[in-house]
Amino acid sequence: MPLTPVHALSLMFLYFKGKNRTDLLALTVSSTFVDLEPLYYILIGEPLDHRIWHGFALTLTIYPVLSALGVYIAEHYFEQKLWSAYKFFRLKPNQVKYSLLTIYLWSLFGSFSHILFDMLTHETMPYVIYPLVFGNPFYFIQVSVIANTATILLAIYSCLLWLKAHNQEP
Ligand SMILES: [Zn+2]
Repeated sequence: MPLTPVHALSLMFLYFKGKNRTDLLALTVSSTFVDLEPLYYILIGEPLDHRIWHGFALTLTIYPVLSALGVYIAEHYFEQKLWSAYKFFRLKPNQVKYSLLTIYLWSLFGSFSHILFDMLTHETMPYVIYPLVFGNPFYFIQVSVIANTATILLAIYSCLLWLKAHNQEP
């Protein structure tokens, strides 16, 4: 995956296709915040930047729970601020507050999709199925090119839907 925002953008079309069932905040937070890990290692100058948080062991267990709790708090205590933010970005929401189960399921999906995209596009991601295997058995250069192209096309598709929503009357 070339850039962290592409993780969220490539899935954003799901929101425009079903606003009532898609918690965009949960999807965005869960599919992007995990890249705080490589950011941290880049900032401290460590060459191996995708570590234990870039593996299914944590991203299918602890990480979606943390993400869901953060999103739940944001949606329940800062609802008005979220309405303003959604409006500012011309996202035309029907609602900004979802049930805890919906938040959790979108967090789980966002986390899973992040690791799925990353494992196909990052050669050096040794914890992907750790402790079963140390190393990334899913990386192949051809698959990486296809996965990168697919995510960029999905991101463009999402942006087109966003633009369409933007141009529609409220
Ligand atoms: Zn990542």
